[in-house]
Amino acid sequence: MLLLLLAVLQEVPPTPPAAQPPAPAAIDAPKPQVAWRGGFEECLQLARSEQRPLLVLFHPEKDAAADASATKVWRDDKIVAKTAPFVCVLADGATHDEAEAPDGGKTCQRWGGTSCGAHQQAFVPAARELIDGATSVLPQLVLCTGEGRVLARRAFALSVAQLSDLLDDTLRMVGGPGGAGAADPAADAARVSRALEEVKRASSTRKAEALKPALELGSAAARDVLLEYARKGDDDATRAEVIAAIAATGDYLVLEPLLKLAKERQELIALAAIDALAKLRLPEALEELRKLLPRYTGNDQGRVLRALAACGPTDAAVRELLVKKAKGTDQNIRAHALIGMGALAPTPEVAALLEKAIFDRLTVARACAVYAAGKGRYEACREELGKQAAGETRVDLKELAQTALDHLDHVPDDAECCNLDSKLGNFIALGETRR
Ligand SMILES: [Zn+2]
Ligand SMILES: [Zn+2]
Repeated sequence: MLLLLLAVLQEVPPTPPAAQPPAPAAIDAPKPQVAWRGGFEECLQLARSEQRPLLVLFHPEKDAAADASATKVWRDDKIVAKTAPFVCVLADGATHDEAEAPDGGKTCQRWGGTSCGAHQQAFVPAARELIDGATSVLPQLVLCTGEGRVLARRAFALSVAQLSDLLDDTLRMVGGPGGAGAADPAADAARVSRALEEVKRASSTRKAEALKPALELGSAAARDVLLEYARKGDDDATRAEVIAAIAATGDYLVLEPLLKLAKERQELIALAAIDALAKLRLPEALEELRKLLPRYTGNDQGRVLRALAACGPTDAAVRELLVKKAKGTDQNIRAHALIGMGALAPTPEVAALLEKAIFDRLTVARACAVYAAGKGRYEACREELGKQAAGETRVDLKELAQTALDHLDHVPDDAECCNLDSKLGNFIALGETRR
């Protein structure tokens, strides 16, 4: 069936199918949706022959947050329209309800466009070609050319705004009609260089603001200049700022440069890269982070611990390490290990440890445990958090406990709702401590 479809498509002149055909004027006309396809090899061929970029979505079989994005983000009208220039491949191993398609085949009801069999079969060959199956995070989105050159690779679910920008940027990279006109790599590079000069001149509190215009460009040329500065720039404070900023969520194209920077001799740079890896949350960083751990002591080792937790939330060795450090005698490291538990997927062992630590005799340890219990949504700690919210004598800690308790009931993928991180900042510096 897919081959037939290809034959039909190839007879059509190669005008990009920018708009969906108008929906038939029926009541309950289905909303336009992404034209998902299975059949990875055929899609690569199609992308080459029509000179269109390829969009490949790897979707996990069982993941409530990812499913929510599947139904909301990928069915958003703006997103559907913006995917039209792409050949869209769905790689999802799950089985869903199916409906009869007009051609007698089946259509997946969750995604539309393709059958469940086809989106299941796309997974293995696409994963082999584009992501490293074993350690890779799902969901993951890869945008590439028909030749398989990766233009963008993002882990985790994206919001409508993030995805919309990413699709625009990718189209600009291939010279297509992006959101803000044709690509001009030289102009972008010049703009970033100018912004970097501003960042150098700015005071330490204004640097992040000064860097914004460079980050907002989002193009490959802009990113390359930023990465180059992170590697070899002439002002270390500015390099650290750039390193912190390029850790945009789940962008695989900054992973390798950050791993190299994390090994630099200069601690300001190396630790900035370690914090950035924590923001990136990719399991591919675990091995390198483990090697870096013995290089640091105290708070700095704590930062490596937190990065390990962020990159390996379900990794058993990471969990054991954090438990060991949380039971240790170095109070700085203990605090960071407790905080790190907020990034782990809850287990009974860690929950039991937090339940005790919520009543630790040291204020900082109590605060870190309360934070982690709320941040990681340790349901098992609800009673202990309630006790602290009612009985804690320190007002700011009492407030933190109440926030942590509230957060247990909030939407899992909402990171901003309670601002737990900034409330923990009353008790401990979370990193990026300028030297
Ligand atoms: Zn399906
Ligand atoms: Zn919340």
